Amino acid sequence: MLIGASKSQPEPVLRAALDAGLRHFGENKVQEAQRKWPSLRAEYSDLALHLIGPLQSNKAADAVALFDVVQTLDRPKIIDAMANEVARGTWRAAGKDAPPAFLIQVNTGEESQKSGVAPGGLAALVNQAREARLDLRGLMCVPPAGANPAPHFALLAKLAAEHGLSWLSMGMSGDFEAAIRLGATHVRVGTALFGKRI
Ligand SMILES: *Cc1c(COP(=O)(O)O)cnc(C)c1O
Repeated sequence: MLIGASKSQPEPVLRAALDAGLRHFGENKVQEAQRKWPSLRAEYSDLALHLIGPLQSNKAADAVALFDVVQTLDRPKIIDAMANEVARGTWRAAGKDAPPAFLIQVNTGEESQKSGVAPGGLAALVNQAREARLDLRGLMCVPPAGANPAPHFALLAKLAAEHGLSWLSMGMSGDFEAAIRLGATHVRVGTALFGKRI
């Protein structure tokens, strides 16, 4: 699955991608996505929006209302907030026929500044998400900049298999071929599709 990472891309660029047939898009910020997508969604009812940026719990209701897939679960508080909104039916009130699917973001490089749960903390989050009855499908990662991404993709694939999760969101413009070789089911491609961000 090709996800167009469309942060900072203006509407004409999004329209060109939609006209070319792209239907899955990833946004990093809830507010930016709320500005850009509701009108396009009214025209293209089959498009799917993925949240691929870090999430604050005070945006949980907006995220559950807008996104079809939330890829960035990474701590207990966010899982609680999402579970509350899913249980309250925030998605139904927003006119969707299903709650979002969820992925957990794993900080495979254990970088202090990066979001994502460290590999050692993953099992607890998987259990929490399953107990909260979230529709947990898979794992997502962003390998450290400048590093060989292959060991990070391989680690993510191994962790997903250990937990019986089938979706692997990994690979961006610079490394999606390697990610696909290592089992990516979803690649998030920005600049290679849309050109430089503004
Ligand atoms: C921006 C972004 C991408 C796409 O990056 P490109 O290098 O432009 O392809 C993918 N994933 C995440 C989480 C991003 O923030």
